[in-house]
Amino acid sequence: ALTLGGISTRALQALLLRERASYIRRNPKSQAQSARAAEHLLFGVPLHWMNDWGTPFALQVASAQGAHLLDVDGHRLADFCLGDTGAMFGHAPPVVTKALQRQAALGLTTMLPNDDGAVVAELLAARLGLPMWQFAMTATDANRFVLRWMRAATGRSVLLVFNGCYHGTVEDVFVDLVDGKPVQRDSLLGQVHDLTAHTRVVEFNDLAALEAALAPGDVACVLAEPVMTNIGMVLPQPGFWEQAQALIRKHGAMLVLDETHTISSGPGGYAQAHGLQADAIVVGKPLGGGMPCAAYGFTAELAERVVAAKRNAPPGHSGIGTTLTANLLAMAAIRATLTHLMTPEVFAPMQALAGCLASGLQAVVTRHGVPWCVTQVGARVEFQFCAVPPVNGTEAGLAMNAELEHAIHLYLLNREVLITPFHNMMLVCPDTTDADVARLIGAVDGFLTACR
Ligand code: PMP
Repeated sequence: ALTLGGISTRALQALLLRERASYIRRNPKSQAQSARAAEHLLFGVPLHWMNDWGTPFALQVASAQGAHLLDVDGHRLADFCLGDTGAMFGHAPPVVTKALQRQAALGLTTMLPNDDGAVVAELLAARLGLPMWQFAMTATDANRFVLRWMRAATGRSVLLVFNGCYHGTVEDVFVDLVDGKPVQRDSLLGQVHDLTAHTRVVEFNDLAALEAALAPGDVACVLAEPVMTNIGMVLPQPGFWEQAQALIRKHGAMLVLDETHTISSGPGGYAQAHGLQADAIVVGKPLGGGMPCAAYGFTAELAERVVAAKRNAPPGHSGIGTTLTANLLAMAAIRATLTHLMTPEVFAPMQALAGCLASGLQAVVTRHGVPWCVTQVGARVEFQFCAVPPVNGTEAGLAMNAELEHAIHLYLLNREVLITPFHNMMLVCPDTTDADVARLIGAVDGFLTACR
């Protein structure tokens, strides 16, 4: 029989039919609300990705608090997706909602700073180890702005990224390696520029390719997640980052670490936890406890070059920033998050519980004898449909399977457990309980049993 990730395709298709029917039966109010939404919402949802869950129609939310989400049909789901990291500190953390209420009475947006700016930058410097900071509304924007600054500060045009990366909808990085050649990703809509002209792409964990790509001396920066987390998960091999950092430095390029997801490693991100020294760091998503905001930091040396680039540029639009960036509400949210949530005390139990989740899943996988692996980065856990953890984006991409993912996600959803739709990511927040973890592990066990 044909198999997908160790599961027979026939068993999978039968299960998928059952689970779709069950979903439709269980969610009449979501169905009615989705039908109404289809009247005037393009794609039937406020953002077309919201259809990528693989459900017959979107699950409609009633409320989200802590580690749980209540849907309009009254199911209380254990949420391990957590807004794909935006709610990594739990949904609507009270310290953040209180700060938002306080600030809301004092103004939402002014295009002028208040005292949160200085405090937040001090906290970011202390946590992430870089002294100088600026803000953005989203991690996408933060990456886009940093790339601009890097090109302006270095006078070099080329970006270097790792195959299979994702850094938000930053056009520049949608270049894949196909049979060893850079190819613009064909799913990218309306893109008329040749992205391969200024973007170079190599495999993660491939030091020889990295060196060759840096050698011409025209690379402004390497933009990377310290661990790849958007094509399943790919860990750096021992020694990779030490040597990669030395190569990047030797060739005069900047290292920009996108810690948007790997901030799950602890309050200082993966770089602080593992002794990496970036020239620039990007953080977004959970930085404001779920409020839209992001930040990027520079070393003192890079900050000087950035300031000089701005000083030497003609007056006018820099192309960096947006009107509502660093608005008063966002800054209040970041201050509350950094002060009360992005702390060692909050992270320690999250990471411990994620460890229980990872080992519990591994035990289930081993017991069923499926060729899957489980990987953990702090509070973040991933399972992938390959027996050996992938070492680069190509291997990780080959292990992905949309049909199998949809079937698992739907099976879990029908058992009131939510995980991230695009791959198999699970995040533990401060409010996640042992019982939530047990329910998730039990549901994966149930899925594998149902597929036998
Ligand atoms: N960087 C990384 C590493 C991400 O995973 C993402 C989103 N998944 C982003 C940036 C972009 O975040 P946002 O969609 O909030 O702009």
